[in-house]
Amino acid sequence: MKKIHIIGGGLAGPEAALQAAALGCQVVLSEMRPLRSTEAHQTADFAELVCSNSLKSESENTAPWLLKQEMRRAGSFLLQAADASAVPAGHALAVDRLEFSRRVADLIASQPRIEVRREEVTSLYPDDDVITVLASGPLTSSPLADELERLTGAGRLAFYDSISPIVDAAGIDMEKVYFAARWDKGSADYLNCPFTKEEYDAFLDALASAETVQAHSWEMPPTDPSAVSTSPPLAYFEGCLPIEEIARRGRDTLRFGPMKPAGLTHPKTGRWPYAVVQLRQENLRADSYNLVGFQNHLRFGEQARVLRMIPGLEHAVFLRYGQIHRNTYIQAPALLQETLQLRSHPGILIAGQLSGVEGYTESIASGLLAGRYAAALARGVQPVPAPRLTANGSLSHYITHADAKRFQPANITFDLLPPLEDELRRKVRDKKERHRIQCERALAAWDQWLANSAQPIP
Ligand SMILES: Cc1cc2nc3c(=O)[nH]c(=O)nc-3n(C[C@H](O)[C@H](O)[C@H](O)COP(=O)(O)OP(=O)(O)OC[C@H]3O[C@@H](n4cnc5c(N)ncnc54)[C@H](O)[C@@H]3O)c2cc1C
Repeated sequence: MKKIHIIGGGLAGPEAALQAAALGCQVVLSEMRPLRSTEAHQTADFAELVCSNSLKSESENTAPWLLKQEMRRAGSFLLQAADASAVPAGHALAVDRLEFSRRVADLIASQPRIEVRREEVTSLYPDDDVITVLASGPLTSSPLADELERLTGAGRLAFYDSISPIVDAAGIDMEKVYFAARWDKGSADYLNCPFTKEEYDAFLDALASAETVQAHSWEMPPTDPSAVSTSPPLAYFEGCLPIEEIARRGRDTLRFGPMKPAGLTHPKTGRWPYAVVQLRQENLRADSYNLVGFQNHLRFGEQARVLRMIPGLEHAVFLRYGQIHRNTYIQAPALLQETLQLRSHPGILIAGQLSGVEGYTESIASGLLAGRYAAALARGVQPVPAPRLTANGSLSHYITHADAKRFQPANITFDLLPPLEDELRRKVRDKKERHRIQCERALAAWDQWLANSAQPIP
């Protein structure tokens, strides 16, 4: 049986390593931290969550729920660690990030088939004796990204993503903020900072005049004309826009986006405020909160000034400021097979954000698939891709079949899943019921695929 080399100890890499090892394979897991870090990681831990602590919705029959259900049924090790590290977050799965990483480290340490190497990998050898899973993430070190480009012959694509600030709970004015769940759905775990119209207008004016950070050279898209690039150079991922960019799009745009007050009834007035900033608990001790959807690219001093205009945060202590960062991913539709193998070098699989999926859970899911596919290849068996009907299969289908020229990473949504047949669509008018049916048939197809796949060694 061939050895498996997994590069990257973030989210996709450890899940792939644990899956392949559970299927009986010998695995080497290379991680460059702490010898060399990335622009966003702060620790040397496996499975570090670099920004929010949320693995998205647990509401039944939503697309993120479906993805997680499939992963749980396949024995996802990282979801198991996430479930055991959960903190209250309404109908979402949010985790204590340190506890989560600790549990993943324990799982890896207790798996004798995994050898961990702390090293920066700079070369890829399409070697017949080794199956490689490249899971080095959106901040893949430059020598490795160059190597990947050399190997694939295609350009890599850079664009901007952003991370939101975290405040110390002690600095929040609890007299001004209130706990509520939107539309009273789930438990009231979010703290809400309510704005009047005057406060919102003043906040918007301050935001518009605040100074932003200049882009670093490592953030710039590649200049090589043959490389895939985006124009204009500051190309944000639409699902993760900085607040100053959203504000630029119209005075009400924030109020209909991350500052949406709908369904958040203020207990004192019995009404919705004019706008709201939501704070989500960061850890089990509940001693810090992140500003939901408040990623931004303002200078740190400017962030302190502007964000302290949020009612309730006048004396906030910032534990982390918002930031902007590079994101690297391959042109998957041109390069990858549905089994995540490079078309040109089938012994190399690409997993995680680098493969063109977007988000923590999606990255873990892609690691889960890559680990299973790599285990099959190590045995000399060509793997069967996850079924198209499933959330996992739909994500792989999207990244391998989207328009290559305009390819953008995607989170899991129902848009990626095959729609119901025309006749059924005509019969079932209710969107929620359609989603329920899509989930039901996805899980049935997933279970069948799992039953036909190799089973983990107890
Ligand atoms: C700053 C930032 C904020 C994000 N915020 C969110 C968010 O809030 N919510 C969300 O769902 N998603 C977010 N994402 C997107 C994505 O979900 C995460 O990046 C996720 O961690 C991707 O998982 P991964 O395993 O693909 O990569 P990573 O978790 O980044 O893991 C890759 C690992 O590879 C290592 N590595 C890199 N190069 C080498 C090399 N040459 N040799 C050895 N090791 C190497 C890195 O050190 C890292 O540990 C964010 C991304 C970034 C960059």
